[in-house]
Amino acid sequence: MASLSDIGTIKDIMQRHGFAFSKGLGQNFLINPSVCPRMAEMGGANPDAGILEIGPGIGVLTAELAKRAKKVVAVELDDRLLPVLDETLAEYDNVTIIHGDVMKLDLRALIAEHFADCAEVAVCANLPYYITSPVIMALLEGQLPVRSVTVMVQKEAADRICAPLGSRESGALTVAVNYYARPEILFKVSRGSFMPPPNVDSAVIRMVIRERPEYDVGDESVFFRAVKAGFSQRRKTLSNSLTSGGFLSREQALAALEQADIPPNTRIEALDMAGLAALSRSIFQIKS
Ligand code: SAM
Repeated sequence: MASLSDIGTIKDIMQRHGFAFSKGLGQNFLINPSVCPRMAEMGGANPDAGILEIGPGIGVLTAELAKRAKKVVAVELDDRLLPVLDETLAEYDNVTIIHGDVMKLDLRALIAEHFADCAEVAVCANLPYYITSPVIMALLEGQLPVRSVTVMVQKEAADRICAPLGSRESGALTVAVNYYARPEILFKVSRGSFMPPPNVDSAVIRMVIRERPEYDVGDESVFFRAVKAGFSQRRKTLSNSLTSGGFLSREQALAALEQADIPPNTRIEALDMAGLAALSRSIFQIKS
């Protein structure tokens, strides 16, 4: 099969299959030949691994994963791409394409069904950007038996997810990702690496899943509720933002902050994970 990152090859495939890009489905296909081999290698594709890919497109990353991994399962929503993938991935007998919406599939069941004979499982994908955060959160919150999640996302999303906690660039997504995983930016990818080119640059990030959370937060639902309240009014001090949406009374907020040794005029973006966990524990105590 000719290189799937070659523009002439892509145009030929599109013409023969009568395929046109769907903007709504986030279809920007990779045409930079160096990106997919690097992603596959850094994304955990090895002879013992099962890899879950989301959105294979015409299979440019899928082929690199299939060359290196034991098995690849790729979930594609656009049924027009199914005959294309049949053709482009014909030489790989370790690839299964599943037609479906990744947000609606039972990923735990899918992993159990397809990867039982794999020593480890990893997710590797060039994500459709319109569902970047929900997909990442579904993968992490689901606490799936996955070692790492390596995904291409918009550069701004990569910067936010990988921002140090306690910095102004951090947000609720930064906290959530850091709770479940250790995120890092692997490399940047320019907009010219895609066909059609998107309006923004991209980056590949890797989130290595923690075996257990780094800090005791007391109660996860209280922790995430506090993080949501704090970041929904991030410019306000914690003594104000924690009372938003009726989460805490002012007295409860002040007591929790004092117990956690956090000055009441602190903003949530100034707290690192240890501080957030201490706050969550004291709120949990005060509310129970
Ligand atoms: N992997 C290919 C590449 O790197 O060139 C294509 C990546 S493209 C950014 C995103 C792909 O995700 C498209 O093929 C699109 O059809 C697919 N997609 C969009 N929404 C999806 C969903 N909810 N579930 C599964 N696949 C989806």
